Amino acid sequence: MASGYPDFRLGNVLATSFTATLTERRGDRVERIPTPDRLVDWLAASGLAVDSCTAAELELARELRESIHTAATAAAGTSPLPASAVRVINNSSARGRAVAVLTPEGERRWQLSSASGVEDALGVIAADAISIIAGERDGRLALCASPTCRAAFFDTSRSRSRRWCDMNTCGNRQKKARFLANRSANPATSG
Ligand SMILES: [Zn+2]
Repeated sequence: MASGYPDFRLGNVLATSFTATLTERRGDRVERIPTPDRLVDWLAASGLAVDSCTAAELELARELRESIHTAATAAAGTSPLPASAVRVINNSSARGRAVAVLTPEGERRWQLSSASGVEDALGVIAADAISIIAGERDGRLALCASPTCRAAFFDTSRSRSRRWCDMNTCGNRQKKARFLANRSANPATSG
């Protein structure tokens, strides 16, 4: 938190790392991209470096983020996908002009057009969300068990039994709460 802003929660899946820039949606919300510059930082940390970002582009990004969250939540609960969320995701995907390129080391990188870097980056994120929601990738969309979080996350564990969006935050907090509840129920064993 050297910048004075909430730090990022970066996972292995681009689309759900992006939706995790707003956390505790059912509790005290934490906005992790509060300014255009923080979106620039997040994109750089996610392999989608852009030169700059306007306030309008930040709004577009947040609209896409909430649409991905809404659609992923519906998909995790096997509900019909809300049409407005699908439209926003598809528009973002269609506007992006990023190109996949192969590095000499054999890794995939995204090359963004210089004119509309943020839109290109959002296009990559939208396409990632589409592949997850469409069930193309090896994993399962699930909702975090924390009642104040309920984030949609992509479970790639072998048993497909992950309960929390993030073990270090939601997982730990739940464990601690259960420990305290047990202790107050059984005071004699607490020492
Ligand atoms: Zn969570």
